[in-house]
Amino acid sequence: MSRIIGIDLGTTNSLVAYVDEKTNLPRVIPDERGRALLPSIVAFTPEGILVGEAARRQLVRRPRATVYSVKRLMGRGFDDVKGELRYLPFAIAPADGIVKIQVEGREVTPPEVSAVVLRALKERAERHFGEAIEQAVITVPAYFNDSQRQATRDAGRIAGLDVVRIVNEPTAASLAYGLDRLKRGVVAVYDLGGGTFDISILRVNEGIFEVLATNGDTHLGGDDFDRVLMLWLAEDIQSHHHRELAQAGVDLVRDADAAQELRLAAEAAKMRLSTVERTTLTIPFADFTYHRDIPRDDIERLIAPLVAKTLGPCRQALKDAGLGASEIDEVVLVGGSTRVPLVRRRVQELFGRVPHSQLNPDEVVALGAAVQAHILAGGITDMLLLDVTPLSLGIETLGGIVSVLIPRNTTIPTSAREMFTTSVDGQTVVDMHVLQGERELAKDCRSLARFELSGIDPMPAGMPRIEVTFLIDANGLLTTTAKELRTGKAAAIEVKPTYGLSETEVQRMVEDSFTYAEADVETRLLIEARNEADTVITHVERALRQGAHLATDAERRAIEAALAKLRQARGGDDRHVIIETTTALNRATEHLAEVMMDAALRGAIQSRRADEIMESQ
Ligand code: AMP
Repeated sequence: MSRIIGIDLGTTNSLVAYVDEKTNLPRVIPDERGRALLPSIVAFTPEGILVGEAARRQLVRRPRATVYSVKRLMGRGFDDVKGELRYLPFAIAPADGIVKIQVEGREVTPPEVSAVVLRALKERAERHFGEAIEQAVITVPAYFNDSQRQATRDAGRIAGLDVVRIVNEPTAASLAYGLDRLKRGVVAVYDLGGGTFDISILRVNEGIFEVLATNGDTHLGGDDFDRVLMLWLAEDIQSHHHRELAQAGVDLVRDADAAQELRLAAEAAKMRLSTVERTTLTIPFADFTYHRDIPRDDIERLIAPLVAKTLGPCRQALKDAGLGASEIDEVVLVGGSTRVPLVRRRVQELFGRVPHSQLNPDEVVALGAAVQAHILAGGITDMLLLDVTPLSLGIETLGGIVSVLIPRNTTIPTSAREMFTTSVDGQTVVDMHVLQGERELAKDCRSLARFELSGIDPMPAGMPRIEVTFLIDANGLLTTTAKELRTGKAAAIEVKPTYGLSETEVQRMVEDSFTYAEADVETRLLIEARNEADTVITHVERALRQGAHLATDAERRAIEAALAKLRQARGGDDRHVIIETTTALNRATEHLAEVMMDAALRGAIQSRRADEIMESQ
């Protein structure tokens, strides 16, 4: 199985994740210092190209050579991004066609910049696994058009990655929460990051996601929270320390270094206030130290208008999807800013449900990308029971053998049908035993259900035609139906094949099947030889009873001798001897069988004629 990584290529931060085979859970891969987030920032310096944290440190010193938010430019033309230019300190070359960024006397395209971020994540994964990684799933916003998606693919190719799938970010987030398991439902994904806000309404149907509507604000996020808090702090510092500031000639807002320091302090305070009710802010200046106690209420009052601004797009998306808020079944939170308690409260009020927030909102998209990557790589996980049957499903047949109807790893929903018959003359009841596992014998497999098909008309063994149908729906629910076609008698049972099975159990069962495979096959062949011998013995005994007068004495004696030999061999363990003696008995009865067949045909025609006479009267 070749490894495929999942990548969240974000506007502000990017992450790489994979599915841990031991736990079957997706995990992000941290860098050497334990940091999961890689800032999506690339700095072009005379010494070389820097990425992530190292590039971020260049932001203040080299604003024109440090490229960030490049996702906003991916797959766009110059005319498309004119509105963005005022937000970006670096220069965009005015040109036809694709946007180019001017840095350090050269021009680079957005996919090239993104490729630097992707290559850093690829190398991080390669260090983690100690092997080369060549394939990735990359997420994009649901509203990305074809050229933006293509640009993302190109970035992957430049970084030496084959992008096996582009996945919508809200779909990935829903996958991380296992919402693909919903049979039918509507999911709202509320994504509030550092600089962007996206709301997506998705419909899930039998594990397939469909985007119903998207909306948002491309310039609204946690950075705005930082800004309002920073301006408020600047005003407060100014009012308390205006004399010291004036003497030092510091302008808190216009002075780049001071503003940057204040912004970082504001962001840190904001983050702390997501978990604690109040915090103390301390900022040392040259001549004084600023202290301030900030209760959560203060920041909530400041950011309330910004949080309220996200609700308009939510309502619009609902309207576009033709749904009311009460029709949303699940709400998923994505993006670092959804840690803010006020944001959670407002989202919960709007949709009337508690949003999913158990997973880290910064990581949830990357985790979902990893889940998708794992599906594509062919891994089986607990989360994917919907997509494939983890173990084979079948029924027990004569001699305790399993007859498989649906092999493991079959994509579901699926169905299979097979014909069976009875083994005893006059049998009116058939025991149906539904099994799951990779072993040949019923006793070594997991028993899922037993039920009875009764009311079959008494017929000779082998005459009834019992049609067994297995149907697995998209929820992994198995329905087994048995129907005797001559009488129309039917019975059915519904079982949950995956219920209670942990991945380790599944794994052990799969491994066992390899360990025991050879011994199992031998046992199976022996039982099959015995079953065949039993069928032939029964037929010959019946033939001798009904057609003895059609055989010569010598013929009868030869048949009886062969029959005795087979009865003896049948009791032994050598399947080759059983098969040989069965063949010998078949040969000894060939002639008798022929003449009996002729007699039977004549009988059939005669009785038919009698029937016709009856009907015409
Ligand atoms: P993202 O773009 O999803 O990485 O989100 C980044 C934004 O989330 C930044 O504005 C961060 O300040 C914000 N953020 C991260 N952690 C927290 C937190 N604990 N409380 C509030 N905002 C946070």
